Amino acid sequence: MSHQPILPGATIGVLGSGQLGRMFAVAARRMGYRVHTLSPAQDSPTGHLADREVTAAYDDLDAVADFARRVDVITFEFENVLSATTDCAARHAPVRPAGGILQICQHRLREKTWLEAQGFPVTPFRRIASFEDLQQAAAALGLPAVLKTAGFGYDGKGQVKLTASDQLDAAWQEMAGAEAVFEAFVPFEREVSVTAARGLDGAFSHWGVVENEHHNHVLDVSTPDAPVSEAVRRQAIEVTRGILDGLDVVGVLCVEFFVGPGDRLLINELAPRPHNSGHFSFDASVTSQFEQQVRAVCGLPLGSTALMRPASMVNLLGDLWQDGEPDWVAALAEPEIKLHLYGKAEARPGRKMGHLVAFGADRDDARNRALNARKALTQQPKT
Ligand code: AMP
Repeated sequence: MSHQPILPGATIGVLGSGQLGRMFAVAARRMGYRVHTLSPAQDSPTGHLADREVTAAYDDLDAVADFARRVDVITFEFENVLSATTDCAARHAPVRPAGGILQICQHRLREKTWLEAQGFPVTPFRRIASFEDLQQAAAALGLPAVLKTAGFGYDGKGQVKLTASDQLDAAWQEMAGAEAVFEAFVPFEREVSVTAARGLDGAFSHWGVVENEHHNHVLDVSTPDAPVSEAVRRQAIEVTRGILDGLDVVGVLCVEFFVGPGDRLLINELAPRPHNSGHFSFDASVTSQFEQQVRAVCGLPLGSTALMRPASMVNLLGDLWQDGEPDWVAALAEPEIKLHLYGKAEARPGRKMGHLVAFGADRDDARNRALNARKALTQQPKT
């Protein structure tokens, strides 16, 4: 495979067409690349900004082959792209990160098994394929615990928390016979993540340790420069580097961690693409996670990830629309708020519609400003 850089003017194909692809397209087009996107959706967040939007199922391999023939390199923004799709695409253009990485990361069991085999610190888990497996896992790892579907889960979907053994039966019914992962519940003090990039030449860069606050299992607030000890910071970055090297990632990958009592660091999960917890970088870092993805997959040198100012990001979910259009003017009255909307037509509860980034004198100040701006969106009663 050629290690020649893919230069501005070339065309990058993106599998998936959500907000991650949209922000990738902004970064790519700013640098003079063309962007094509393929997904089953029409009029998609990525499609609005792409030069070409192909609407096709991921298993329509004729469409995938045709798509791949017209681009110079392919990346993805959606984790659940089938391996048949990336295998087919890879016959016509380089796929970065490689499809095999996607295959590991899209399946909790494969991911945890790989991490454990490589000696990375992962939440204790068991594979569950029957009710007997579930009973044995509960006896071995104890309760509370979380039962998660092995494949195709995100943002807390396909998860059941177990606190007592009389809940096992109902939980197993809920999995409807699907392969699952039983995970010990981690009494974490904080959740943090490290988003990092690796170039074609193996160069590594990261955006530091970011603190993540969740609401209803969905990311709510991300603030860089997490208040963790130097030992945790170093370990989180070292582990992340080990994972990107171990998987031979060319692109961006995020590692989500739990920080437990006594500075115990455990990996929750991996995402082999830019991540919601790295969105602040679009406004607050010299190089955003999206620009770095462009640079990495095109074989260009990676940019500086330095944080220019303390910042914080809050998500805007569809719930904010329940009494009508949010009051954008009120939120933007604070001059240092950056508004990102993903162009989604329908605001459903729980759906990620956009985010706000705020700057501040320090991380707490930035976080407060971001939360206040979000509050202002729905504060005024509608007349
Ligand atoms: P996930 O979709 O696996 O990232 O889970 C979403 C969120 O649920 C996590 O960010 C945690 O807040 C919570 N969660 C998931 N698994 C566990 C666990 N084993 N222990 C404690 N909290 C968990």
